[in-house]
Amino acid sequence: MFWKRNLRPIRNAGSGGEDDLFSQLKKEITPLRPQGDFPLRDPGSFSRYTCELCATPAPLPELKQCVLCGRWACSSCWTPEYYVCNACNGIIRLHQLRQNR
Ligand SMILES: [Zn+2]
Ligand SMILES: [Zn+2]
Repeated sequence: MFWKRNLRPIRNAGSGGEDDLFSQLKKEITPLRPQGDFPLRDPGSFSRYTCELCATPAPLPELKQCVLCGRWACSSCWTPEYYVCNACNGIIRLHQLRQNR
């Protein structure tokens, strides 16, 4: 039954690396609002909401909630690759630079 000992620390490089990074980021980034929360309403109009990064009003379908910090970002503040805002994407890039060394 010696194989049981090997169950824990197996981590093959390449696969699972991103999960690891993601949970690391989750610990590092304090969410500014809970997931599923609504974006800030644009005070100047009833049908628009405000991007929390550049403060530009946008209709709801154009805003996306960052999976890490929970902020709502417009299309120009958004990184579709990771489903995060540009601010969190900057942090992801820093982590990747560190990992790739
Ligand atoms: Zn924006
Ligand atoms: Zn974010």
